[in-house]
Amino acid sequence: MKTLSTAVVVVGSGSAGISAAFELYQRQVPFILVERGDKVGGAGKFGAHGVFAVNSKQQQAKGVTYGYEAAFKGFTDYNHYFVNGELLARFLKLSGANIERLAAMGLPVTVEPSEQKAHLNDPLVYHKFNNFKEKMTNWDRLPAQFIAAGNQVLLETAAVDLDYDDGLKAVIVADKAGTQTRIETTKVIFADGGYCGDAQLMADKYADAAEFLNLGERKADGTGIKLAQKLGADTTHAPVLFAHGCAPSRQINPMRRDSSVETLTNLPLLWLDKTANRFVNEDVVYDFAMWANAAHNVQGKYYVVLDQKTLDHFRTQTVSLEDTFERQFCEVGQTPRTTVGPLSNIQADFDAASQTGEVVKADSLAALATKLKLPLAALQRSIQSYNQAVAQQNDTTFLKPTDELLFGVEDGPVYAIVEHCAILGTLDGVNVNRNCAPVTKAGAPIKDLYVVGNNVNGLYSDGYPSYEGIANGFAFVSGWIAATEAVKSLSQVKAEV
Ligand SMILES: Cc1cc2nc3c(=O)[nH]c(=O)nc-3n(C[C@H](O)[C@H](O)[C@H](O)COP(=O)(O)OP(=O)(O)OC[C@H]3O[C@@H](n4cnc5c(N)ncnc54)[C@H](O)[C@@H]3O)c2cc1C
Repeated sequence: MKTLSTAVVVVGSGSAGISAAFELYQRQVPFILVERGDKVGGAGKFGAHGVFAVNSKQQQAKGVTYGYEAAFKGFTDYNHYFVNGELLARFLKLSGANIERLAAMGLPVTVEPSEQKAHLNDPLVYHKFNNFKEKMTNWDRLPAQFIAAGNQVLLETAAVDLDYDDGLKAVIVADKAGTQTRIETTKVIFADGGYCGDAQLMADKYADAAEFLNLGERKADGTGIKLAQKLGADTTHAPVLFAHGCAPSRQINPMRRDSSVETLTNLPLLWLDKTANRFVNEDVVYDFAMWANAAHNVQGKYYVVLDQKTLDHFRTQTVSLEDTFERQFCEVGQTPRTTVGPLSNIQADFDAASQTGEVVKADSLAALATKLKLPLAALQRSIQSYNQAVAQQNDTTFLKPTDELLFGVEDGPVYAIVEHCAILGTLDGVNVNRNCAPVTKAGAPIKDLYVVGNNVNGLYSDGYPSYEGIANGFAFVSGWIAATEAVKSLSQVKAEV
């Protein structure tokens, strides 16, 4: 086996890994960054729009009073005290300074109101990448900087095993062809992004996994979590799905924005679950995490039901409803549109989606019930009750706001958009201490290992919270923490020698 050697191996070059590598680069500690993909960057590069922070200089300049105390108490309470308090505290305290670090990395952000309508009045905590495309280009530039300083970046190379005997001896990596290399080292930082790419693990943890629309980093197969577990790391935790939004399919998904079917997905129309019952106030569409959680709660799938009259209305009229993803796709400073339509292509889009099964069209409610295998009586009852709420402008059950009670459903050509719970990854993995070192069930740290980003337990009790940018903010900060601790530990060893 070919052998390399270095001080630190960083596994994964997404938010947490690139941040760890940047810290080592700045401190002039030699490292090898290994990345399974053919380019650097995971979900943090291709997906995330921003990061959460408190007490950043930008927030201070704007007089934001929401700071560490409110955030620490808020998170702890929100998660019913199922948090790693030490880690949460360290993350929050560093989150403000992380904003300057991001600029130094060439990934500048600006504090902005929320991208979600449900959170427009929240404290100003969301820091959005100034320009999404530039973020990706600048990310791709970082490896050249690292290499020029004498480090190595191995693409299309995955960590597959560890040689560990009372301390780390080597990280074993494999290239695309399966050829293995032994990297002799004494520290490894696992920043490989959770496990949403491991279909079996997903099915074991989530009963409705088959329904998910997985928009996450699918190269993340839980390598770091599994290798830490093999060395005795405690992975006990409730599964935490990073559920975020809903969509009919990968062809019609929120990241593409090119189909009227998707536009109607993103509005508070009438939603029915697999039992033909309403299950939530559809206004939840304006809160990405809660929207997807509601779908996860009805086994990951539901239907948006509308009739031909409504479809024709959208084709010819402007409708006073905001597309929930509108603000996410505005650049910093751009004014979002608060209406949709006229959608001149809507009929063609729905007809095309009817061919692929993303939309089911039927001549009557009875025919729709047959096609979707829904109980007809429940379907008729749900629609009658919803029509009544629209007619009376009063939703006495789910309490949808009056200005969203716009479209009843009559018998006649009817459509059901088939919606799936979208996921951006997973957020449970390894229990760690405040230094991001994995711990055993007895609480003892496993030396020389660090686990960061989406691989870590401790910030969330059961689902993604309504704090925008928290996952990505934590990924960058935890990479920073792990690199700092690895360097500290290396210098202690050096001093002892
Ligand atoms: C579409 C989308 C939008 C998002 N938007 C937001 C947002 O706006 N705000 C927010 O807070 N969060 C957002 N997130 C989540 C955020 O991107 C993640 O929480 C964050 O990127 C996690 O960082 P990470 O380093 O743990 O994983 P990633 O950034 O996914 O990086 C993991 C890297 O490890 C590599 N890898 C995996 N296995 C191996 C292996 N064995 N060996 C070598 N390399 C390996 C992968 O290829 C990948 O490059 C979004 C996610 C997606 C998918």
